[in-house]
Amino acid sequence: MPGPGAPGHAEVAKPASAAERPLKIAGTSFAPGQSGSVDVPVGYLINHEKITMPVTVHRGRKPGPRLCVCAAVHGDEINGVESIRRLIRMQLLEKLRGDLIAVPVVNVPAFLARSRYLPDRRDLNRLFPGSTTGSLGARLAHSFVTEIVRKSTHLIDLHTGAVNRANLPQLRISPGRQENLEMAQAFDAPVIIKAPTRPGSLRAYLKRRKISTIMFEGGEALRLDPASVRFALRGVLQVMRHLEMLPAEKGKEAPKKKPSVISSNTYWERAPRGGVFTPLIPLGRAVSKGAVLGSVNDPFGNRVTEISCQADGVVIGRTNEAIADEGDAVFHIATTSDPSKAEKTIRRSEVDLGDDIGHTETEEPLRE
Ligand SMILES: [Zn+2]
Repeated sequence: MPGPGAPGHAEVAKPASAAERPLKIAGTSFAPGQSGSVDVPVGYLINHEKITMPVTVHRGRKPGPRLCVCAAVHGDEINGVESIRRLIRMQLLEKLRGDLIAVPVVNVPAFLARSRYLPDRRDLNRLFPGSTTGSLGARLAHSFVTEIVRKSTHLIDLHTGAVNRANLPQLRISPGRQENLEMAQAFDAPVIIKAPTRPGSLRAYLKRRKISTIMFEGGEALRLDPASVRFALRGVLQVMRHLEMLPAEKGKEAPKKKPSVISSNTYWERAPRGGVFTPLIPLGRAVSKGAVLGSVNDPFGNRVTEISCQADGVVIGRTNEAIADEGDAVFHIATTSDPSKAEKTIRRSEVDLGDDIGHTETEEPLRE
C-alpha cells in the first residue's frame, strides 16, 4: 500500500537543537521539530508484493508525551482511519509539544481485503505482542509493537462496531490505572466502559507495559459515520490538550467536561426467536428492566415476539440487520443504576457535537 509520503524519508528537515531526543522508526530518524512519514515493513503478500504500515510522525520542538493514535487494527473499521486523516492535516500540529505518531491503518492486509480479519482469518487483536517467527499477523503485531508502541507513552486506539452493528461513541478502558480514566474523561465521551482485557489484545499488552491508553468505539464497520469521525477527532484533540501537547483554544475557556456514564458491565440482548427484527429503541436511550426493546416477527404473520430488557441501562450498540436468527445479539446494553440520568448525559454530548468541529475540513487547510 503506498505510504502518505516518500517511504523512509523525513521531510521538512530542521536541525535539532542540543536536546536530542532520538526517535527512530524503521531506520528513519526524526529530530525534534521534524515531521515526515515512514513505511514500516511488515512482510510480503502471496504475489511478493511488499506490505508496509504507513506511519506519519510529527515531532514538537519542545519535549513532551509521545502519543500514538492508531486505527484499523480491525481492517474494516474505517471511521478511525478518517479521523486520523483529518488529524494529520491540521495546522494546529505546528504548535505541538512532544510527539504524535499517527498510524491510520495498522492491519494493512485486512484493510486491503475490507475485512475485520487477517488473510488466515485470525484476529490481529488477539496476537499482541506478536513475534518475528509466527503468522503474518503475529509478525505485523511485532512490527507495530517494536517500532511504534514501545516508543510511545500514551496510545489512543480507534475502533468501530462490527459489520451491521453500530456503536454509540464510547470508550473502553482497563480498570485500575488512573491515567486511563483521566485520558477518557479528557476525551469527553458520553459513555466509558471499564472492561477487562482479553489475552493477546493490544489493550492487554499496553496494560502490562503500563502505557496509558483508551480505546474508542463509534459507528459500524465499512460505513463512514460523520458523527463518529468528528467525535473521535475532537476527543483526540482534547486528550492532547489534557496532556499539554497542544495549547488551550485561544479566546475560549477550556470546554466544560460533562460527566460520562461509567459502566463496568455490558451485555447483549438476544433475539428469543428468528424473524424480521423491528427495533423500537435507538442508540443512547435509557432502558429499564422489563421494557420492550423491539420484536422479532414471523414473516408468515403467525407470531410477534417481543424482546424484553433484562436490566436497567443505556443502549450502546445495536444491530442494523433486518433479519435475526434465534440467539442473534441485537441490543448491547451498558448497565447503570440511573438510566435516565445517563440518557441525559448522552443527549448533551450529541447536541454539543453538532456545532463543534464539523467545520474542521474548511478551517484547517492542507499542510502540503
Ligand atoms: Zn475493532
